[in-house]
Amino acid sequence: MNTPTERAVGKEIVSYCTRCKMDLGHTIMAMIGGMPARVMCRTCKSEHNYKAKKGVKEPGTATPKAARAPRESKAEKTVPVELEWMKQINASSRPVKNYAANEPFQVGDRLSHPTFGEGVVQKLIFPNKMEIIFRNDIKTLIHAGKPTT
Ligand SMILES: [Zn+2]
Repeated sequence: MNTPTERAVGKEIVSYCTRCKMDLGHTIMAMIGGMPARVMCRTCKSEHNYKAKKGVKEPGTATPKAARAPRESKAEKTVPVELEWMKQINASSRPVKNYAANEPFQVGDRLSHPTFGEGVVQKLIFPNKMEIIFRNDIKTLIHAGKPTT
């Protein structure tokens, strides 16, 4: 998350106050390595080390924002393709072939692609394409076509 709040001596920052025992606006008194080190509570005027917010709020000021976990964005990060890919890689005992456009591939073949990495052939698309599941995406690549039997 990008907070536009500028961190500098004299600026306000929300810190956990050790005396008030809640998150309150503090004035930054000293900075160390770009992080606030000493802060002064604007409520009780006590100076103490900067403490990260604890989510402790004044009673009565219910903040639904804090209660709402960012579950959605987390779920998006876990790409379902990767799970499926892992499952198929683990399930396949076939030797890994190096991908080449002039090589024939079949469903279930494992291949190694210089850009996309290791993948498993999902299906063949007539006459010379195939769908491959890679770690991050499903790609359609060209191959030599189904070997005629
Ligand atoms: Zn205080």
